[in-house]
Amino acid sequence: MTKLIVLFSGGTGTPKLLQGLIELVPQEEISVVVNTAEDCWLPHGYFSPDVDTVLYTLSGLIDDEVWHGIKGDTFFTHRQLLALGHDEVLNIGDRDRATHIYRGALMRRGLRLSETIEILRKTLGVRGRVYPMSDDPVETVISTPEKDMGLHEFWVEKKGSPTVTGITIRDAEKATPTPGVVDAILSADGIIIGPSNPVSSILPIISIPPIRKALKARKNRVAVSPVIGRKPVSGPADKFMKALGFEPTSRGTAELYEGLVDHFVVDIRDEELYLEETEVYRTDTIMNNLEKKRALAEFLLGILNISYH
Ligand code: GDP
Repeated sequence: MTKLIVLFSGGTGTPKLLQGLIELVPQEEISVVVNTAEDCWLPHGYFSPDVDTVLYTLSGLIDDEVWHGIKGDTFFTHRQLLALGHDEVLNIGDRDRATHIYRGALMRRGLRLSETIEILRKTLGVRGRVYPMSDDPVETVISTPEKDMGLHEFWVEKKGSPTVTGITIRDAEKATPTPGVVDAILSADGIIIGPSNPVSSILPIISIPPIRKALKARKNRVAVSPVIGRKPVSGPADKFMKALGFEPTSRGTAELYEGLVDHFVVDIRDEELYLEETEVYRTDTIMNNLEKKRALAEFLLGILNISYH
């Protein structure tokens, strides 16, 4: 019988997990709901970084050293732009840029973001479903003592150094989920909130009211902590969690997901954790090779009682 697993994803930790999961599960049985709160128009096209990382992961194109862009890509256009004096902050590869250009052209013709992703998905030969969380603009705004900024300015341009005084997920409350997302959540055999940034990747998705409601109505939901001790495995999750008043730990992550998960997986190196309503599991969650990615995916399938043998 066909099964359906739904994952909530940002751009690094969950795609690593996806690489392991697709070794075990037919892609047709996987749907990924992806954060779009870092999307923006760039001079050449429309940039949807987390969606592209998921598309490239499922199609085998991903540059899995840096978790964005296409493996073996060239950078002629980027270098020429710099030579001409255009200060392009993001290091965008030529083939990756083609994705942005094509998506932007389709959107200018009137297609919705989700429709353009459906076209890209099929063209790239991706058999799993990839849903941007919404076709409506939602934006993660990072407040610093100097000014408000987006994630790319904070993390790439300013290298994550400003003090973060607040985070707002702008317009999430009035966003509508992409068609198919709520049905996928309600009909899935199991739901995985992957090890993504709880604030800048997962919070935008779970702040969209119908997605939150659907997830709340479910059972068989598992989340993986992206934090060990008081440090995320990578990225600025600790600063962001503190800015929202959560401790930057697995406990803080579980609190952010309160009422939305039944099972919570923390790393074996992490401190002991007991949660009232949620069962806690411990395993090695550091996915630094394919075997470990597959092992974590298998561990999660076990928790969700989904078997493929
Ligand atoms: P980012 O913080 O902007 O990089 O946001 P992403 O949503 O792309 O995901 C990165 C998150 O995944 C970070 O919070 C990391 O701590 C987490 N992460 C990355 N690799 C791993 C891993 O191998 N294991 C675990 N448990 N978490 C990971």
